[in-house]
Amino acid sequence: MRKFNLSVHELVDFVLHSGDLDTRIFNLETMTRGTQIHAFYQAKQNDKYLAEYALEYTFEYENHLITLQGRVDGVIVNGSEVTIEEIKSANTDIDNFFENNEAWHLGQAKCYALMYALRFNLDVIDIQLTYISQIDERKMMKRYTFTREELQSDVFSYFGEYLAFFYQVEKYEKRRTKRLKALNFPYKEVRSSQKVMMEQVEHALEHEHKIFLNAPTGSGKTMAVLYPSLKVLAEKTNTKIFYLTAKGSGKAQAENALRVVREKALVKSTTVSAKEKMCLNDKVACNPDECPYAVNYYGKIRNALLDAFKSRDEYNTEIVTEYAKKHELCPFEFQLDLTLLSDVIIADYNYLFDPFVYLRRFFDSKRGNYIALVDEAHNLPRRVSDNYSLVLDFTPFYSFRKVLKGAEHKKIRRIINRIVKDLDEYKEGIISEYETITEFPHELRSSLDRFLVVGSEYMQEQGNNLAEGFSDFFFDVNKFIKILDLADEDFILYTEIDEARKFFPKFFIKCLSGAKFINEFLKVIDHAIFFSATLAPAPYFKTMLSIDDDIHQIPNPFSREQLLIMVDGSTSLYYKDREQTLSVVAEKIRAAISVKTGNYIVYTPSFMYLENLEQELRNSEDYDLIVQRPSMSDIEKEKYLETFKLSPTKTTLGLAVLGGSFSEGVDLVSDRLSGVIILGVGYPPPSFEKELEKDYFENKLNDGISYAYVYPALNKILQTMGRVIRSEKDYGFILLMDKRYNYSPYRQQLESYDGLVVQVKSAERISYLLARFFLN
Ligand code: SF4
Repeated sequence: MRKFNLSVHELVDFVLHSGDLDTRIFNLETMTRGTQIHAFYQAKQNDKYLAEYALEYTFEYENHLITLQGRVDGVIVNGSEVTIEEIKSANTDIDNFFENNEAWHLGQAKCYALMYALRFNLDVIDIQLTYISQIDERKMMKRYTFTREELQSDVFSYFGEYLAFFYQVEKYEKRRTKRLKALNFPYKEVRSSQKVMMEQVEHALEHEHKIFLNAPTGSGKTMAVLYPSLKVLAEKTNTKIFYLTAKGSGKAQAENALRVVREKALVKSTTVSAKEKMCLNDKVACNPDECPYAVNYYGKIRNALLDAFKSRDEYNTEIVTEYAKKHELCPFEFQLDLTLLSDVIIADYNYLFDPFVYLRRFFDSKRGNYIALVDEAHNLPRRVSDNYSLVLDFTPFYSFRKVLKGAEHKKIRRIINRIVKDLDEYKEGIISEYETITEFPHELRSSLDRFLVVGSEYMQEQGNNLAEGFSDFFFDVNKFIKILDLADEDFILYTEIDEARKFFPKFFIKCLSGAKFINEFLKVIDHAIFFSATLAPAPYFKTMLSIDDDIHQIPNPFSREQLLIMVDGSTSLYYKDREQTLSVVAEKIRAAISVKTGNYIVYTPSFMYLENLEQELRNSEDYDLIVQRPSMSDIEKEKYLETFKLSPTKTTLGLAVLGGSFSEGVDLVSDRLSGVIILGVGYPPPSFEKELEKDYFENKLNDGISYAYVYPALNKILQTMGRVIRSEKDYGFILLMDKRYNYSPYRQQLESYDGLVVQVKSAERISYLLARFFLN
């Protein structure tokens, strides 16, 4: 007999969940309040009430042994009469809520009732569905009586539906497993760096919880981490691979690698994209009143999943959208549901590492063997800190106060006025533009808590007639309060106010190190492989990612014929010297780009410097000059990069800002880029926040300047250097200019490019070395 373990939720949600998508009713806030209301209700019951009663029963069903388990909200034992109670709460009209969800809720209760009746040998048992309003705490109860046979017949019909789908999935998994087991490395050759990397990954997938690999660009990282992970997928049931990236370009690489795998084997993958990108409406408003794709989402999802599952293996944005339109479903939610049927989930970091966005369906309670492949992992510390850093800006209040007039808005107006009063009072005590605060003001905090309750009611009452920007502000407050409750010594709170004290102060909460959150998220992951071309400088990442062991260095695959690194430590790019050295810098740039017709990018320390350099370099017949501008649109950025063509017949010189959009994630392969020139060392400009960061690391590690300024800058330089060689056949040069390259940690870091680094001083020497290099 086949054995199965199922939770009541898994079974009933799959078979009976129907109704609309509605983020006004189902959101984090209502879930949290629901939990509180349940606990409060349960605590008030008498001693005949058994709360959170755990049940488990193994059923024999058509050659299957199905162990069903779950926790019922309450069991009321009154002599020989037993009632199974399911409690539901909602911030909407509970009569409607009941009507829309009765079958689903009753289905859950029926499973519990049957398990209880079988365990205690009851012929008849009662069910009570209790609904509690989150608005006014009104209660409404619905009662039912069932015989054991009636319950069994219903629950067995759920088993039938569930198993029919399960066997479709299993059939696919058997074929997939067979073909993945037979899969050899999908490319013709394994590069030496890939071989080393795969050995490390294989070892980690057997023995380690997490591993950190620093592997140069062009070393074939994507397949080197995917291939061994797919082999685990073939060996261990219930394995899911999460390929997590910081940028869209990383997702595309993973998708491409999986297409190569699919030429020889089977694998299903979903690429998860942001709601704003997937949404089929002009405005994201996920409720049945405003979006046709939200209407009866849960009633339509099973057929849509089955359709996509039978006919496709790759669920990228286009394919998900095609099927979502076909079945009139929200594509964003649909892709999330497809992840459950996929072997590989390609997604942004946030789907594991963001407290508000992470994939609850996998990570709230562990359901399998999880492998996380974290691409470009040098981005992760900053991203996680940013996820826990928020600003609370009360500017929308100005418009709310005007709009929310009239008796029907009395409650919400009152709380907004209270917050305004709190803010005005608080403003009195503020002395300077930026101020750190040790504690968030108590009165304001309790007003905000009240605002969340009243605001939730207001949103329900108003439906789609909400004041402009209200729901965004509501969810901002909600998030801010949640992060505020987590804040400890790794956080800092501060305020900002305009000079004239005319406007409300803004409150900032900044996370300075997210290392403990990263570890927390990793608890549900069995094996995490972090890889990047720039997990350096090592001390920085060891602290920011809590790495106990070494970062594994994959050998550099580049030869002297492929990469030349010139370091000009004679030209000062200190701020005070920039005007004076500008013409020398321009001369050296001209020398570097005049040796060979090609494409080159010069990275400058700031936009101001870029403009000055543009003046020096323009009006030349020898090359076309293209320049990065502040706030370029995505289309303008694409156009900028398209200028760098393959096999150029005239030199193109691009100017871009170091650390800007063109410093990372730019993939100009082959001779689309033959060299980069980096001016300065990329120190971030001092700011109030940077200084806070410096003080924090000074207190914690006695090394504030390194952690706040020097290490992030050095990582930025290494990233920018990585633009030149994108594949094993690329070749090109890097010219670094600044006196600071003569000193540690820059000097020390450059030692890792053993044999590729040459010191230069003059334009002539640069020309000479490049002439020799390109001749080879
Ligand atoms: S299509 Fe857009 S508005 Fe509609 S449910 Fe999906 S994300 Fe929300």
